[in-house]
Amino acid sequence: MNRILLAEDEERIASFIEKGLRAEGFRCETVADGAAAVELARTGEFDLMVLDIGLPGMDGFTVLRRLRSERVDLPIIILTARDAVEDTVAGLSGGADDYMRKPFAFDELMARIRLRLASAASVESVVLRVADLALDLRTRRATVDGRTVELTTREFALLETFLRHPDEVLTRQQLLSRVWEFDFDPGSNVVDVYVRYLRTKLGADRFETVRGAGYRLRSAPH
Ligand code: CA
Repeated sequence: MNRILLAEDEERIASFIEKGLRAEGFRCETVADGAAAVELARTGEFDLMVLDIGLPGMDGFTVLRRLRSERVDLPIIILTARDAVEDTVAGLSGGADDYMRKPFAFDELMARIRLRLASAASVESVVLRVADLALDLRTRRATVDGRTVELTTREFALLETFLRHPDEVLTRQQLLSRVWEFDFDPGSNVVDVYVRYLRTKLGADRFETVRGAGYRLRSAPH
């Protein structure tokens, strides 16, 4: 089920949107100020945010800039009561995916939400991300902090396995079976050798050695 985060301080509008979303089968959580919007958007538990610009404390533009500077790539649709075209343009260049001008028809908002969710889903299926590390499954290229890194076939398969299990300890045996398709331990250090290659190419710190167990891809610096 899709979870929508709604940041809107006007109760009447918030409840109108909430009711509509629930009727369409979405789950919806509403916050009424910018700081709470940032906090919840960071949790990664939402699929999309509808963000009002005029919020108390921190306005919607600030919320948007803060999230994008933290690389939170949650799709965001801005709601604005302001007529000024510059505001809308500023919103889109600040990293918003779309915008709606108030007042609006719920059906139009719903159509935009569905469109954004569909395009987010198709992007997600080809790019795996953990922190500043991304792997495009089509081009088989990794990027670290915007820098492109070429990988060999095995390095690619090993990195894909790590990215699908961030923060989990993967044993040498699990890696051997998933990446090399060995269901026995051939008694070689091939896993350690390839983890070393990934460390050299992508940064040593992110691949943690867990003594006596295996390796873990860290999703955050320690
Ligand atoms: Ca408002």
